[in-house]
Amino acid sequence: MIRLYNSLTGKTEEFVPINKNEVAMYVCGSTVYDDMHIGNSRPIIFFDVVARFLTYIGYRVKLVSNFTDIDDKIIKKAQDENTTENEIADRYMQSILQTYQKLNILPHYQNPKVTETIPQIIDFIQLLIQRKGAYTVNGDVYFSVETVDDYGVLSGQNKDSLIVGSRIEENEKKRNPIDFNLWKSTNQGLRWDSPWGMGRPGWHTECVVMIQSIFKNKIDIHGGGSDLKFPHHDNEIAQSEVAYHHHLANYWMHNGRVDLHGEKMSKSLGNVIWAHELVDEIGYPTYRLMMMNVPYRQPLSYRSEVVQQAIADYDKIYRSHLALKRKLQFDFQSIDENCPVTNPELQKIKDNFIEAMSDDFNTANAITQIHQLVKITNQTLRQKECNADYLKQLAVLYHDLLWILGMLQEIVPLKEKEVELVQNWIAARNRKDFARADQLREEISHLGIIV
Ligand SMILES: [Zn+2]
Repeated sequence: MIRLYNSLTGKTEEFVPINKNEVAMYVCGSTVYDDMHIGNSRPIIFFDVVARFLTYIGYRVKLVSNFTDIDDKIIKKAQDENTTENEIADRYMQSILQTYQKLNILPHYQNPKVTETIPQIIDFIQLLIQRKGAYTVNGDVYFSVETVDDYGVLSGQNKDSLIVGSRIEENEKKRNPIDFNLWKSTNQGLRWDSPWGMGRPGWHTECVVMIQSIFKNKIDIHGGGSDLKFPHHDNEIAQSEVAYHHHLANYWMHNGRVDLHGEKMSKSLGNVIWAHELVDEIGYPTYRLMMMNVPYRQPLSYRSEVVQQAIADYDKIYRSHLALKRKLQFDFQSIDENCPVTNPELQKIKDNFIEAMSDDFNTANAITQIHQLVKITNQTLRQKECNADYLKQLAVLYHDLLWILGMLQEIVPLKEKEVELVQNWIAARNRKDFARADQLREEISHLGIIV
């Protein structure tokens, strides 16, 4: 049984998908006017791990994440660089997709774009107007929060306190100061013809339409960073209530933010660490380990000690995994069939790992099980003799657990020349030519064969 924390109810609940064996998931993606920083990469990595784990235990997972490819920031950047919005959006979309690859993110089921969803968005806004959930003013369309009784249900706010809290805007076209824009009339930048004149869609409406277009139904899990709870996700829910009479998703999941020196990492504050630069520097297994060492709902405080810790931790995992694979690559005489064939600890590690992941995706606890596996593997490899089947069981466990966390790294088999050196080393040892063996041992020390 999987239990997860549902931001909508504020409770940890048993996960029951709408369709048996299938999971429909949506995660709000990037507005493509710049590269991805490590704060933006946290939901992408975390929900990738969610999708991997659900796949591993037998669900067919469809994970969708969008690209917002038209927005004020894109228009501004295009004007600053004297180019088109499409050029800006394409450039950063390609760059972000490349970063997904570097981070070892499984390909998403779909990555819809706003500019390819305009007819559906217009139809959807018309439906909201028909249902009296939206109104038009001089070519703009606004959502009327009055039509939704539980507006603010996700962030736990009510309309009255939101109205008091909202600054009185210059915009007097709105009936209520917290009504939000669905269609923006404009003569600037990319724009489309609509029943209300030329314009473009507002941000809050695109995700609802994309979810409906792709899944045709309520989805199981809607995810994103905790900073999207309000207004973005509350506004998505409000539109879905008017259009479809449901809360869009059964489970809403939000990851904590990433801080840099105690401040929220954001492009507008100018304090960002770029995801592609960090992953190039430390590699995706270490990058992901750093993210998953902290439970996903807690804020992650980026500091050099946190990175150094992840580097040291992953180094131990990698060296142990490498030594195991190397041992299996050679027909050592020391692989003795009379040695223990299994160890009850292995099943315990796997069970505990799955238990941790089933407990609201507690990756921090899951990782302690990988460290346990490292310990047992190193103990085994230090013994003079071990059983080949047992070593294979260890290797399968490494493979599965590291795959679920997206940390599995291919271990390249040794080249012919390297194999020859190792065989010579084994032969020298066997004929008790210790001087030669020591010399060869030195030569092969960098190959990861000796723990
Ligand atoms: Zn969204």
